[in-house]
Amino acid sequence: MRVAVLGSGPVGQTAALLLARWGVPVVLVDEHDRRDPVGSKAICHQRDTLDVWASLGAGCLAEEGLTWTTARTFHRDAELFSLKLPDGGSALPPFVNLSQARVEEVLDELIARQPLIDVRRGHRVTGLTQPGRVVVECATADGTRRIEADYAIACAGARGDAVRRALGQRLDGVSFRHLFLICDIRADLPGWAAERRFYFDPPWNPGRQVLIHPCPGSRFRIDWQVPEDYDLAAEESGGAMEARIRAIIGSAPYEVLWRSVYRFHTRLVGRMRVGRVLLAGDCAHLVAPFGARGLNSGVADAENAAWKLAAVLRGDAGEELLESYHTERYAAAVENAAVTTATMEFLVPRDEEQHRRRRDVLARAAHDRAACEQVDSGRLAEPFWYVDSPLTTPDPDRPFAGRPPRGAVPPPGPGVLLPDVTVASGRLRDLARQGFLLLTTPGVRAEGLRSADIPVGGALGARPGEAWLVRPDAYVAAVLRVGDERAHLVPGVRGVTRVVDDVGDRAHAAE
Ligand SMILES: Cc1cc2nc3c(=O)[nH]c(=O)nc-3n(C[C@H](O)[C@H](O)[C@H](O)COP(=O)(O)OP(=O)(O)OC[C@H]3O[C@@H](n4cnc5c(N)ncnc54)[C@H](O)[C@@H]3O)c2cc1C
Repeated sequence: MRVAVLGSGPVGQTAALLLARWGVPVVLVDEHDRRDPVGSKAICHQRDTLDVWASLGAGCLAEEGLTWTTARTFHRDAELFSLKLPDGGSALPPFVNLSQARVEEVLDELIARQPLIDVRRGHRVTGLTQPGRVVVECATADGTRRIEADYAIACAGARGDAVRRALGQRLDGVSFRHLFLICDIRADLPGWAAERRFYFDPPWNPGRQVLIHPCPGSRFRIDWQVPEDYDLAAEESGGAMEARIRAIIGSAPYEVLWRSVYRFHTRLVGRMRVGRVLLAGDCAHLVAPFGARGLNSGVADAENAAWKLAAVLRGDAGEELLESYHTERYAAAVENAAVTTATMEFLVPRDEEQHRRRRDVLARAAHDRAACEQVDSGRLAEPFWYVDSPLTTPDPDRPFAGRPPRGAVPPPGPGVLLPDVTVASGRLRDLARQGFLLLTTPGVRAEGLRSADIPVGGALGARPGEAWLVRPDAYVAAVLRVGDERAHLVPGVRGVTRVVDDVGDRAHAAE
């Protein structure tokens, strides 16, 4: 086998399907004999994650998911503000809510139909060595099995200690003291079906918060912050759970579908590439779910890992390309850790100074727009921008302005994901996902690279005489100009050689 994917959670499933789409044979191993469909962790899936899944044939996930476009935030009894999620000019919704269990089910169906993926369940990874190739030791019901592969992607999740240990990695960071009770109910709650509601200090959970998300099929996810000594069993048997739910939904009939108590963490391994193994998803990083940056960032890890491994295996790139996986996805993990830690400090202040700030911001937010900006109930997941990556050639005409305002994306340019625009042949990102692509403005062409003359100048902000080099994960690698001549415009990747001018005067005159 060429690549072993260790762990068949949603990140491992996505990685395996992406590799197979690139034509790479995969062995996908998981310790469990079958999937446990009970309960659901992730529910909020961001547009660019849906886009990756759609590219694998799982477009139904965007359709089945419940699209929500409004995020309302309350303090005590009063609504502070509501945020409309921009449609971003994409055919896909900004966010849908759908259970992680359903996502896994759909991806499993695709995997079952994919001849390049060999699924081995009931295989618990107990060790891994890299004597040239990757050798994975697995415990099975029939004894120890060895799996050999050229490369591996470790997707063994938060509980993948055995895998991390074999790679000399630990999930270092902090665990937050506070607990969160998460409960999925079914109920008819008119008016709530397309909104996310976040309550700070509601009268029915004073001093703490409650988050409510609509899901398909009249289901709602309710997430309460609860005291550190919270006892779910005692609350259920004593009837307090019923009172807790009634305080929110009133007298409407309801049914509890699932409930669980969680502690959240900010934790990160030191290296996301260890030799021939790339670590992805929760195996590499853990964040609190406010902002939905867990699975969404894991899917971005999978896409980044898959095209790079495929390029190396095809001989289109040297193995040094894999180091850029660590550089890019570690930077994304650090960003996610910073954003979610800031949110947790607002939600569950650690000291009196943070408490005081929270009280002050919430009090001012009732009448002060600027204070609303500081109310932090989670900055929603967004694609990371690889502006500092060695694969990105910065353009002095398009300097990166830093983290964009909440809900906004940076303007197109090197290091930024292409906008999801439609072109004559379909979606621009689908074209990009077939391999490196050069988007040329009239009169410009490249030697040594697949190029497409596409009238997307407006959406990109491209200027005459430019050619935009796009990576197989639809990120812009460089904005080239006539005359640019570098052997490897994307270090480690063989391909683009020279950008030339087809119609002479026109392009040069525009420079
Ligand atoms: C309450 C909650 C709500 C969340 N909400 C969101 C949200 O709305 N949006 C979002 O983006 N994220 C959310 N997350 C995070 C999201 O659930 C995780 O990021 C996601 O499950 C990570 O997927 P994964 O494939 O990396 O790991 P996992 O889902 O943990 O899968 C790991 C797999 O590896 C297997 N495995 C482990 N060890 C071994 C071994 N030694 N050998 C073989 N197999 C092994 C396991 O059996 C498992 O199948 C939430 C998390 C929680 C807890």
